[in-house]
This record gives sequence, C-alpha cells and structure tokens, in this order.
Amino acid sequence: MSGSKLHLWHPFTHQGAEPPPPTIRRGHGVFLETKDGRQILDAISSWWVNLHGHSHPAIAAAIGEQAARLEHVLFAGFSHEPAEELAMRLGKIVPAPLRHIFFSDDGSTAVEVALKMAVQYWSNLGHPEKRRIVALEHAYHGDTSGAMSVSDDSPFTSAFSPLRIPMLRTHSAYCAHCPVGLTRATCNIECLNQLETLLAKRGHEIAAMIVEPLLQGAGGMIVHPEEFLAGVRRLTAAHDVLLIADEVLTGFGRTGKMFACERAGVVPDFMCVAKGLTGGFLSLAATLTTDRVHEGFAGSDATHAFYHGHSYTANPIACAAANATLQIFDTEPVFQRIAAIERVHEARLPAFASEPCVKDVRHIGTVAAIELKVPDAGYLSSLRPRLYEFYLSRGVLLRPLGNVVYILPPYVITPEQLHMVYDTIQDSLGLVARASAFGG
Ligand code: PLP
Repeated sequence: MSGSKLHLWHPFTHQGAEPPPPTIRRGHGVFLETKDGRQILDAISSWWVNLHGHSHPAIAAAIGEQAARLEHVLFAGFSHEPAEELAMRLGKIVPAPLRHIFFSDDGSTAVEVALKMAVQYWSNLGHPEKRRIVALEHAYHGDTSGAMSVSDDSPFTSAFSPLRIPMLRTHSAYCAHCPVGLTRATCNIECLNQLETLLAKRGHEIAAMIVEPLLQGAGGMIVHPEEFLAGVRRLTAAHDVLLIADEVLTGFGRTGKMFACERAGVVPDFMCVAKGLTGGFLSLAATLTTDRVHEGFAGSDATHAFYHGHSYTANPIACAAANATLQIFDTEPVFQRIAAIERVHEARLPAFASEPCVKDVRHIGTVAAIELKVPDAGYLSSLRPRLYEFYLSRGVLLRPLGNVVYILPPYVITPEQLHMVYDTIQDSLGLVARASAFGG
C-alpha cells in the first residue's frame, strides 16, 4: 500500500492504550503551544534538554547562520570553526584535567564512547584483564545496548536482557530507602562499604565505574549526598579504576553548579555531556577525558586508535547551537534564575513532606521530586498515567517517573509560574487520596 501517512510510533508509549498526543506548533519561553492554541507549561524541559526556554532567538539565529554557511562535513580528518569554538568554551568550564573532547550524538552514545574508551585504554596498556564495569543500583544511562547494560534492571530494560552485557553493581545512596537500613542524619555513608569490598577483591579486573553524579534521574530523581560521590572518587582512585561521570542530565547548571562533580569537588576520568549542551535545540553529545587516558591511545600501533565515529559527529549546526547556548550563560543572569528556582523548591517542598500520601521529598539545584506512597511503587505504577493526564488537563507538562513526581524546569521559569506548578501538584494529591491509590 502506498500514499497513506505512516503511523507515528512515539517512544515510551503503551501502543493502543494511550490517547493520541497533542500536536505542538510553537514553543516560547517555558510554554509549548498546541495546534489548537492551548498553552502547556513545560515543567520538565522536554525530557531535561531545554535550558534557556523554547525557541530562544539567539540559539535559533546561530543555527540559521551556521546552516547557511556549512551544514556538515565529516569529522574524521577534518575540523571546523564551530567545533573549535565549542572546545574552547567547554575547556573554560569543565574540571581542568579534562583536556580532550570526543563528540557523538546523544547521551547514550556519549556513554558508549566512555565505556569503550575505558576498556580499550586498559587493553592498549597491556591489561586486557581490566575490562569489567561497575554501575550503581537505580542507574539509568541510556537506551543503546552498552548504556542499557550499565543501567539497572527496570521496565526500560526487562525485554532486552539478551542484549545486555553483565555488569558489577553496587549500592546507590538512596537515602529514602537506605540499602543498609540507616538514616542520613546519623550515617557515615556506609552504603559505600559494598563498593569498597568489591574494589578490594576485584579492582584488578575492573576498567571503570560509571555514576550519575549526585542525581540519578530516570531511576526516580534520587539525590545523593555529596560525600557519596566524593567517596566513589576516593575508592576508584585508590584501586586504579577509571571514573565515568555521566553528566548528561546534571550538566549545565541543573544541580546549581555548572556540573554536579563540582559540588562534590570531584574530578572524574571521563565526563559525558549531552541534553542541555545545545540548549535543547539539537542532538549533540561529547565525552571528555584526561591526558592520561588520551596518551593510552597515542603511538605508532594502528590497532590502538579509537575506532568509533558517527556520521554526524560534531555536526557544525549542532556545535553552533551549543556555542550560542553557552554564550547565554554570559549574557543572561542564568545562575540567578537557577538560585530563584532553588528558593521556590525550598519554600514549597516542606509542606509536601508532611502529607500522609508522601514518602519523601528531595531537591538539588533546579530539580525537585516528591515520592508518593503507593501500593505499586515503580515506573509502572498505575498512578502515573492518571497523574500525567491530570497535569496535562491543567496545562502543565509533568511526566511522573511512576510514583515520583518531579519538577525540572527550563531556567527561564518565573517564581510565579513555578508556584503554579506546585499548586497543580498539590491539587493532584487530592486525586491520589480520592482514588485511594496509596497504601499508608
Ligand atoms: N545518561 C543520563 C544520566 C540520562 O538521564 C540519559 C537520558 O535521560 C541518558 C544518559 C541518555 O541520553 P539520550 O536520551 O540523549 O540518549
């Protein structure tokens, strides 16, 4: 058959069980406008990518100018000005030892690059036995096979076990459900003991450890104490295990600093960035690393080269979008906006903590989460679609991660708009209670 429009198969949708999604025709500031003129406040930055508001004119203009000059050239054997400028701009804001940047397409591929580089680094150095990877419980690092492998078991991975490589896994600092039964007020980050034991026993066969620094996103917006990340760095360094910081979500101000690692005074061996890198305009990612790792790929042996590259690696238009995005940090009061968001989270969350249907509230920087008590906790909680529809009917885009409602707004949200988002969540607690969806 020909001539009929193809069905749009949207990601993360239960085919046949969900209403057709609204068609969006415009974006401006924090708002998305539907084809029939409805305004929807995007309180999750369109899957955590948008920083400075939708269709920001400076980024849109940079994209247009670059597209008219050079749309693309392969990056194997060629360079171009937007990539050179981006390397310069990022070089000024990332931890100083990260001196090398390798471009890819999205968060998942930035993670694949870090995993492959870490394993090949040890192999190039004559230690092929150092090839295992450690990842955390509740981790999420993307949807390609390697990224899915380092992600923890979840509904996102359950159908794909034949495609996942076995990983070593240790406790996350999920304080609301402490994995070692302690409370944060009095603990000494004993959740790290398991990692310490593993590294002492098997460090000689471990190439790298990967973490989402301070904030595990898709696993439920789990905020870690800074001491946990600092401890992970101390232990991995002591056992000569490379540390991969997946800053795909946390990068570019989300946690209140430019990068989450900064908050804990940690310098990783690899840093993965994507999502906000282009302000939410285009897909672009990068894996940054140190002189030490880079030197492992140098020399005359051609088998030591890093044979990985995507067709659109370092696409000039995407790099131009990234340069304009980073420039906005200098030309607009971005960190003041971030601080204003944090103040509203601090003002509003305590009242939620005392609600009987709330298990935990947490926040870091611009990100806040409210974990609801439900009998079917987890991503597939029956509450999730009902809450999603409720919020949308009130003109707010919030996509609960199962029983965890979170706010992760573009930085241009005003305090009044953010209060409105909180009021909407407050109203939804009535819905939770009426539906008797929570177990005490
Ligand atoms: N890493 C983290 C921490 C993420 O949150 C995500 C996506 O949500 C990814 C990697 C994958 O990024 P992408 O969806 O751009 O492939």
